Amino acid sequence: MKTLLSGAEIFIEGRIVKKDILIDDGVVVSLSEPTSVKAEDSSVCVIDYSGKYIFPGFVDVHVHFREPGFLYKEDIATGSAAAAAGGYTHVCTMPNLNPVPDSIENMNEELKAIHEKAVVKVYPYASITKGEKGEELVDFEEMTEYFEMLNDSTEGEPGAADGIMLAGFSDDGTGVEDNGYMKEAMERVAAIGGIISAHCETKSLMGGKNIHDGVAARKLGMKGISSESEWSMIKRDIELSKETGCRYHVCHVSTKESIELIRQAKAQGVDITCETGPHYLLLSDKDLLEALEYEEAKASGYTGKYTGSVLESAKYGIGRFKMNPPLRSEDDRLALIEALKDGTLDMIATDHAPHSLEEKNKGLDGPMGVTGLECAFKVLYTGLVKTGVITLEKLVTMMSVAPAERFGINHGDKGISVGMPADLTVYDLDCESVIDPDTFKTKGRFTPFDGWKVCGSCIATFVDGKKTETSPCED
Ligand SMILES: [Zn+2]
Repeated sequence: MKTLLSGAEIFIEGRIVKKDILIDDGVVVSLSEPTSVKAEDSSVCVIDYSGKYIFPGFVDVHVHFREPGFLYKEDIATGSAAAAAGGYTHVCTMPNLNPVPDSIENMNEELKAIHEKAVVKVYPYASITKGEKGEELVDFEEMTEYFEMLNDSTEGEPGAADGIMLAGFSDDGTGVEDNGYMKEAMERVAAIGGIISAHCETKSLMGGKNIHDGVAARKLGMKGISSESEWSMIKRDIELSKETGCRYHVCHVSTKESIELIRQAKAQGVDITCETGPHYLLLSDKDLLEALEYEEAKASGYTGKYTGSVLESAKYGIGRFKMNPPLRSEDDRLALIEALKDGTLDMIATDHAPHSLEEKNKGLDGPMGVTGLECAFKVLYTGLVKTGVITLEKLVTMMSVAPAERFGINHGDKGISVGMPADLTVYDLDCESVIDPDTFKTKGRFTPFDGWKVCGSCIATFVDGKKTETSPCED
């Protein structure tokens, strides 16, 4: 049966126009003037989305679904349900798992879980080094060939017939410190046309281990994480990418120095792209400092100054501000906004990294990582589009078109287009709500946007034309 998504404003070639979308057998087969197809045709199921927006489904090239190995934090079912609820149709899962997908045998464990449980398209990364230990490289060639084989076959191994693809290679969670290994990795990945997504972190330059070396660390008398720990490795990798020609992508850029290095590398023609997360664009360690002051006020019994504030509406503790890299200074945040505007930043990825309540309740002593998928678009739309910092078209490009292009994901031509798989998301941009982690599908409850008043609600996500979980606007 054909489905007609009717009456919405839709994203085509970087613009938003009013068109109807006809889906047949999981594929977008036509884009037509509104109401040109009538419901009299009983072979067409018409869904009225008047007043709503339809975007190509969002693509997050950086998530942690914790399966196999850490199912108490998240699993493929809950992670992918969270993705669908946020409007994501494609996510790339990082390999800090147990076992680490560093061989075909280990990769098959993750592929099996994806095959059985995923409700959106989940594309795994393989690690760069065995066990992400930085001591021995994986067999890049064998891994790449294996995925090519899966794509060609229709049965047998888990992943076959799912249209699965390898996202790329990453040791996310840790940096590849050894220059020689990183160089060889880039040479070999360049030779097979792959991509390396690098978590840049030089351990010896970290300084602290919890939060940025800035205003909040000083208040706590805590040693902070230096910016250099990030940009020093980006600097090295830019040189290696230049030398080897490897397609290179920097994960979660958070400092102004990193941005400047990437800006210069791009000007020199290096094959480099980068992502940042919603929290680095919208928050800084000033917000963490304020939250610490609020906690202090609460403990002393007087919170008058904070009545009705976001801090007061948040349900969960200070651990919601702890992630890696940490929230940086306000200057860093402003540099990221400039980079967003001038094209130095290529895409937004959430680094969705859930942990258990017990772990995150340890506050700044708990593990690094926060959830992201279910509120990313809402907070970015509210914080950057409604305030006039960027256009809606730019935001959709950063969350969907750009990551799909860079990672070779089949996702239309610069927006919704005829012939693409019907991987779409439908948003009501007028719907207002408060971010409430207790309504999340993810197992994680900690997000720095806890308690935020936001605009926009994902009312449906289509994967291959099939409607997945929806979260209707409650007004
Ligand atoms: Zn990372």
